[in-house]
Amino acid sequence: MELTKESRAEQTFLILDRISPAQITFLTQKDPFRLLISVIMSAQTTDRQVNEVAEVLFSRYPTARDLAEADIETVKSIIRSTGYFNAKAKHIINAARDLVEHFDSTVPLRMEELTSLSGVGRKTASVIIGQIARKPAIIVDTHFGRVVRRIGLTEQEDPERIEREVALLLPPERHYRFSMIVNLHGRQVCHAKKPKCEACPVAPFCASYPL
Ligand code: SF4
Repeated sequence: MELTKESRAEQTFLILDRISPAQITFLTQKDPFRLLISVIMSAQTTDRQVNEVAEVLFSRYPTARDLAEADIETVKSIIRSTGYFNAKAKHIINAARDLVEHFDSTVPLRMEELTSLSGVGRKTASVIIGQIARKPAIIVDTHFGRVVRRIGLTEQEDPERIEREVALLLPPERHYRFSMIVNLHGRQVCHAKKPKCEACPVAPFCASYPL
């Protein structure tokens, strides 16, 4: 019998939840402002790279106000190794200014407010909502999108559509944990080029098995 998307999602959650670490974080910064800036910088690069650069950036600019007043050329030189550093430098300085000017230097915790900040899209906002606010959040990045499509939870390519469809398959209290365990699964097992299907614990519930 063909499995429903709901049962594939539930089984995937139960299996990956059991075998994954209790706490999963890819970016090391814990403070809301620093995490926000780190996620903006994480586009098109590795988390390890961002974590290294973040240490240098925040030792020089510890607060939103410090970064809001930063010299852009200095910021560019610090974050150069993350790629797209011209655009990212502009975004992170402007995001810091937005925080200072509109939110009293405090990171807001609602989707509409977060996405009003420079350089902050739904993925970045969802990380803050899930990790800082501890509210339901489906975080769609390249790993998550690839894995949920392969398992058969969605056929969508557009991140916002993926987010909407997957959110309907699981109770809200599981959304954030699901995001993290699926993301980890994509990094460790369901690789873009050579997924390890023969060793995959989700294989019995995966629509693509064997890939
Ligand atoms: S069976 Fe293969 S394609 Fe499916 S989730 Fe596992 S690794 Fe990915």
